[in-house]
Amino acid sequence: MGNRMIKINETDNVAITVNAISAGTHVMDDILANEDIPQGHKIALCDVGEGEPIIRYGVTLGYALHSINKGDWINEHMLELPIPPALDEMEFATNLNTDLPKPPVRTFMGYPNKDGYAGTRNILGIVTTVQCVTGVFNNAVKRIKKELLRKYPNVDDVVAINHAYGCGVAINAPEAKIPIRMLQNMVKHPNFGGETMVISLGCEKLTLEMLLDAEYNTPENVVTFQNEMGHQAIMSKIMEMAENKLKKLNERVRVELPLSQLCIGLQCGGSDAFSGVTANPSAGYASDMLVNAGATVMFSEVTEVRDGVHIIAERCVSEEVGKKLADEMKWYDQYLSNGQVDRSANPTPGNKKGGLSNIVEKAMGSIAKSGSSPIVEVLSPGERPTKKGMIFAATPASDFVCGSCQLSSGVTLQVFMTGRGTPYGLEAAPVIKVCSRNDMKNMWQDLIDVNAGPITTGESTIQEIGTQLFNEIIDVASGRKKSLAEQYEIYNDFTLFNPAPIT
Ligand code: CA
Repeated sequence: MGNRMIKINETDNVAITVNAISAGTHVMDDILANEDIPQGHKIALCDVGEGEPIIRYGVTLGYALHSINKGDWINEHMLELPIPPALDEMEFATNLNTDLPKPPVRTFMGYPNKDGYAGTRNILGIVTTVQCVTGVFNNAVKRIKKELLRKYPNVDDVVAINHAYGCGVAINAPEAKIPIRMLQNMVKHPNFGGETMVISLGCEKLTLEMLLDAEYNTPENVVTFQNEMGHQAIMSKIMEMAENKLKKLNERVRVELPLSQLCIGLQCGGSDAFSGVTANPSAGYASDMLVNAGATVMFSEVTEVRDGVHIIAERCVSEEVGKKLADEMKWYDQYLSNGQVDRSANPTPGNKKGGLSNIVEKAMGSIAKSGSSPIVEVLSPGERPTKKGMIFAATPASDFVCGSCQLSSGVTLQVFMTGRGTPYGLEAAPVIKVCSRNDMKNMWQDLIDVNAGPITTGESTIQEIGTQLFNEIIDVASGRKKSLAEQYEIYNDFTLFNPAPIT
């Protein structure tokens, strides 16, 4: 079999190699590789003069720093980054697709809640107000798991939401609203069934009044260490409350529910050049089916959307939604600028080794995961949705921070696309991992749930893998199946996004 390459758009002047190419061999029919080219990297399809654009996905990834010959390898050292799209001149609501693929099913088996979305798991969630309680609290969690959990077989797990926030922070700083909102919303997470326990020290800056709705701030839901007579008393109090909560949670049962009660998140990590042609478009196809069935799907990662923001803006249903998109982008531009960096700080050495030369190329692949549905709402970090459908939830791209922000926004399952491979998982909601190429799946059979690699070799299509992923989402959400990260209990820490000062 000859060397294969993937060209995405008619106007592209580069393609990516499906396998590593040796110097002097042909790629497809008429391109002769001038040098060794690694797997997934770009080869020039024609001569490109100095200062001329390098085009992939039909967009300019950057400008050639020196002249390039047809058949040359194009890597991250050969491009100058273009200016990011202007945020004040974007067009909104000009590309609203209503022709979405039909889903094979429109229901799932979930745990209904009094309000909002249904749970995909039945979890005793425990949120702390401050890091000071963690030492005692972690021992209590070990005891709950060991002594109590097995008596309540309908409860899946006990999950502690620990964090470094709560005191020693500028609690009234404008941006403190982000970590506070994240914790407020974790108390209400759909997988916690309205029975979340809250553990407080007593003198911290993040008070119970700030964290909880007034009706939830009661002795049935809160343990405050400074109100108890010593370690043994604190432990007894926590164990007693946990048992009461577990009894109530144990009565929850799964019922058949419309997909409008499902809220899932999407993100990628350890991306490569295949992510944007295999794993992410497959996730996009599955998302379009979910949205067609009434579900809510979030995508995130501001720095990975920034360079494709004008494409996302055209899909926003109104100017109001588009304006919030622009505002979230501006906020992040400023946040990065305060740290004396810009979006070019995003790609990792692994991204570059995987063939992604810069943030424009990474962004174009990243936004493919959002499919083609209209974007009905834009959320600030950790906000909860008020609309159903495709939503842009602004978060950092950092895997665990994005995951934690999406959990706060209420996702009950996350789909995670990877090219280079990461064992990532979340404790409060199952994570399904999708890889972009066959080599990754072969290496990590027991860590990757869905392989989008057969798309690179032409053995499968985006529609086929997308449908497979849709079915996997329904099976895992319905509890018929555990994702691999869940089976091995692979969980990253809950990680707050705190852009505000620490004192
Ligand atoms: Ca990420």
